[in-house]
Amino acid sequence: MTHSGATPALDHSFADLPERFYRALAPTPVAAPAPIRVNRALAKSLGLDPDWLASEAGTAWLAGNTVAPGSRPLAAAYAGHQFGSFNPQLGDGRAILLGELQGDDGRRVDLQLKGAGPTPWSRGGDGRSPLGPVLREYIVSEAMATLGVPSTRALAAVSTGELVYRERSLPGAVLTRVAASHIRIGSFEFFAARKDREALEILVRYTLERHYPALAEAENPALALLESAVRSQAALVSRWQLLGFIHGVMNTDNMLLSGETIDYGPCAFMDAFNPDTVFSSIDHAGRYAYRNQPGIAHWNLACLAQALVPVLHEDAEQAVALAQAAVDTYGDQFLEAHTAGLKAKLGLAGDHPEDAALIEDLYTLMANEAVDFTLTFRRLADLASPDTAGDQDCSELYPLPAAFDPWLARWRQRLAAESADPGQRQAAMYRANPVFIPRNHLVEAAIAAATDRGDFAPFHALVDRLADPWTWRPEDRDFALPPAPEQQVHQTFCGT
Ligand code: AMP
Ligand code: MG
Repeated sequence: MTHSGATPALDHSFADLPERFYRALAPTPVAAPAPIRVNRALAKSLGLDPDWLASEAGTAWLAGNTVAPGSRPLAAAYAGHQFGSFNPQLGDGRAILLGELQGDDGRRVDLQLKGAGPTPWSRGGDGRSPLGPVLREYIVSEAMATLGVPSTRALAAVSTGELVYRERSLPGAVLTRVAASHIRIGSFEFFAARKDREALEILVRYTLERHYPALAEAENPALALLESAVRSQAALVSRWQLLGFIHGVMNTDNMLLSGETIDYGPCAFMDAFNPDTVFSSIDHAGRYAYRNQPGIAHWNLACLAQALVPVLHEDAEQAVALAQAAVDTYGDQFLEAHTAGLKAKLGLAGDHPEDAALIEDLYTLMANEAVDFTLTFRRLADLASPDTAGDQDCSELYPLPAAFDPWLARWRQRLAAESADPGQRQAAMYRANPVFIPRNHLVEAAIAAATDRGDFAPFHALVDRLADPWTWRPEDRDFALPPAPEQQVHQTFCGT
């Protein structure tokens, strides 16, 4: 059913939880809301009318200026480990949950306004968002979703007609985020820190019913939830690694139980391969560098396990043993998911004893040659079957250095042992190895054009181009190329 003409009626299952889970409050209206972009396809899949969303009434709703009758907006409470230190009180400081909707697929999703004004948890912040972080989240979260990575989505971006003050004054904006839910590891840590066993039990049950309904009747619900979280995080972070995506702020309040990627603050995709790459301007120690991401996810899961100890077993010792055993499976699950993904990127279906060495040597070579992560894999897809590459061949765009030749010979020999049809294998490799990613220098250029000149054309062009990241077109060369030295972006500031 497509809703049209009136402010959408939302569900409020989270608002039905006990009052200590959140604070009920409405967004703070803004001076002069104006549409930037509506995600029409996503709107339709949620039964929302994209034309209404782009209308004056829709824009007012997306800016938080109107709240539908019967609506129960709220700011959720949570805690979190930030850069390793525990903060018992975080919570939505600049985001308001409007409510929930059911999509085409019957899945319940949250609709949340980010940058919607202060809440009791703003801690001196203004509750607002500059335009830049809103555009970054729109571009990158949509690109991730297109690439098949579980992610929160961007339904719309609106400007507020107000300035926000950071190092300088900047135009303000509000992003409408769609998420399977906003339940974080930090949501459990919040109640664990308060020794609120009852709330932990309620949250476990709610999360299972919402994300893992098949397990809702599990004998040990907390254990079933922990095991599901281990599985979904291993799968998620393996996808990040396979695309060269660096999240930048993997605090436990930014890790969702749904297994979706959330918080596109200081994130970026890597250009030249260097496992130590870090973008966040506040991550001085490189805690969240590319190579550390799988280990940090493991660390975060240990935080979740610890928070769940009071509800895992009546006997504390047995609870800890269950928690430990569940978290201990992470390493193997990550490795399995990552290896399977890498083999798909390399066009390898079968298992051979030398595959691990082949993969390791490729990574060493890529690091030594500092080649572009994305285009190296893309080029391998061409080389897997040059005869069938046709107009997808991007050798002109990105030739591999001669240092790759011996490795390529080994890989070709290994491919020869595969039984797959070369053309089909290549098509699958193109799918696993996109040619277009949200390059950080392009994201920064789109933000600068919009912020400094009110020119949104580069933003729209980038979003449009990334809607099909696989099909190479020579006229889109500039979207595919790594940055020239003067275009390189070394730091990405936090989304505050
Ligand atoms: P983040 O690093 O974006 O995950 O945010 C960490 C915490 O700071 C969360 O509780 C946010 O809601 C809060 N926060 C970030 N920016 C602001 C802001 N401009 N105003 C109020 N709270 C903020
Ligand atoms: Mg956050």
